[in-house]
Amino acid sequence: MGVRNVAVLGATGSIGTSTLDVIARHPDRFRASILVAHRGTEALAALCARFRPDLAIIADPSMEGDLARRLAVLGVRCEVASGADAVAAAAAGPLCDTVVAAIVGAAGLDSSLAAARAGKRLLLANKESIVMGGELLLEAMRQGGGDLIPVDSEHNAIFQCLPGGRPHLARAGVRRLVLTASGGPFRGRTRAELGAITPDEACAHPRWSMGRKISVDSATLMNKGLEVIEAHHLFGAAADAIEVVVHPQSLVHSLVDYVDGSMLAQLGNPDMRTAISCALAWPERIGAGVAPLDLVAHARLDFEAPDTDTFRCLALAFAALRAGGDATAILNAANEVAVEAFLAGTLPFLGIADVVERVLEELPAKPVVDVQSLVERDGEARRAARGVLHRAYC
Ligand code: NAD
Ligand code: MG
Repeated sequence: MGVRNVAVLGATGSIGTSTLDVIARHPDRFRASILVAHRGTEALAALCARFRPDLAIIADPSMEGDLARRLAVLGVRCEVASGADAVAAAAAGPLCDTVVAAIVGAAGLDSSLAAARAGKRLLLANKESIVMGGELLLEAMRQGGGDLIPVDSEHNAIFQCLPGGRPHLARAGVRRLVLTASGGPFRGRTRAELGAITPDEACAHPRWSMGRKISVDSATLMNKGLEVIEAHHLFGAAADAIEVVVHPQSLVHSLVDYVDGSMLAQLGNPDMRTAISCALAWPERIGAGVAPLDLVAHARLDFEAPDTDTFRCLALAFAALRAGGDATAILNAANEVAVEAFLAGTLPFLGIADVVERVLEELPAKPVVDVQSLVERDGEARRAARGVLHRAYC
């Protein structure tokens, strides 16, 4: 096929940067036709100067003039737009056939849904949109008829270990999906040792370099909880058929356990460009700039059970998945508010799980009807989380 036109939503972030690195390695295959960022006009304009997209969008409408000025100074002639609606419209529009959903948080839901409905190849990094929208996103994919390829490293690993990507698990002889977790920067610590953790300590991940929100999620193990929910939706696995195992080296990215006793794993250096290039080129394989894994140099692969008493967010995510309905959207919204408060210095690290737990108690699950009611519930959960924060920590 010809050159793929790729919309990179969240182009200035960690996943966006890795995606553009892969695209730059294969100008014969890919073109970054749309670039989107939240507020960082300087970084977005610099990317536009390098990648020459057809369209640049800044999500914050108050920054559009600033972006246009910067592009003019750099001599870049592309269309300029702003606002969340413009992002969703572009993801569904004619300027791209592939969408990399790498916005952080529930803010990515609309554009993921729009791309899905429009039948784009959707490379999903924005796990919050599937945790929140689950069935709605999959239904939109079915309607649109495009391919959904996970970019989250664990789900991309499972995708690679399954026959044909996303088959019916029971018919494919799958017993369990095993998600690996690095354990984050505080693996092995007790609750008492986590009281005074600062945002910078929480963001210093031992294996992966990522945005601040997902780094905090990795430190609380909420990231793995969100990934369990993501795996449930992406692969149709029941909660009981998903296991989490801590693997500090982060070289085995996840595994599939088959009924005949075979276990297939995907291994590689911890570099998101592997999953991104796999998803961009699927079913072909292309160079990603990632060094081959040196098994002898690494020598050891350790595995241990997660400590869900200390890292309660993982248990809360399993509970929300079992509760069903919109409980996972409530969990996600409460977590986003709590992580923001932690990063702002107004909530202690262990308070993140407390806030999520209280909001889940306050708002029992309801069935998911449509996107609009889901977005309302997301707002309700955010208000409830702010209420908990206010009562308990101000
Ligand atoms: P990041 O904070 O580094 O980047 C986020 C990007 O989204 C930035 O370009 C920012 O400008 C943009 N953005 C933020 N809010 C926006 C909004 N309202 N509208 C439009 N754009 C907006 O985050 P990241 O680490 O790249 O993570 C992105 C997503 O990918 C998250 O959902 C994360 O969970 C997921 N993910 C990341 C990694 C990783 O290694 N970084 C791995 C797996 C999954
Ligand atoms: Mg992951």
